[in-house]
Amino acid sequence: MERTLVLIKPDAIEKRISGLILDRLDHLGLQMTGAKVVSLTEELARAHYKNLEGKPFLDEVIQYMMGEFNNVPNHKIYAFVFQGENAIAKIRQEIGSTNPEKAAPWTIRGSFGRFIGDVMQNCVHASGSPEDAEKEIALWFKPEEVLDR
Ligand code: UDP
Ligand code: MG
Repeated sequence: MERTLVLIKPDAIEKRISGLILDRLDHLGLQMTGAKVVSLTEELARAHYKNLEGKPFLDEVIQYMMGEFNNVPNHKIYAFVFQGENAIAKIRQEIGSTNPEKAAPWTIRGSFGRFIGDVMQNCVHASGSPEDAEKEIALWFKPEEVLDR
């Protein structure tokens, strides 16, 4: 059964919309099999976004994930594992395109994401492929922190 990693990013924590985001994801009919509050380290942030190495915006994304642009204590990120048929595509569809200005208005990013100056703040992360999902879940969760169904 397919699994995916979801992160609620600092802008969404600051806006107090994590419950609202989870409500939208809940309605997709998947199982939540892992959930935790994480104090993000720069090391984990860089490992998570390893595929962005060389991109001009990488350092900004790391600062954003570390909470430097939002009023959030302890570098907090909320992390989840969802499991179910087509979990990756279902969640990616619900969160919308990366750029909140291009995301469909009814998606999570389209509804709540925005640019602050030139920093993209798009509220959520969700894995893009099964390979990425398994790598990402292993970075954020110990095996015993995730239920098997
Ligand atoms: N990002 C950014 N500017 C860009 C592209 C990406 O700030 O032009 C950030 C944004 O937070 C995005 C993350 O980098 O969510 C990862 O980029 P990716 O292309 O993997 O998008 P995603 O899979 O999150 O939709
Ligand atoms: Mg991605």
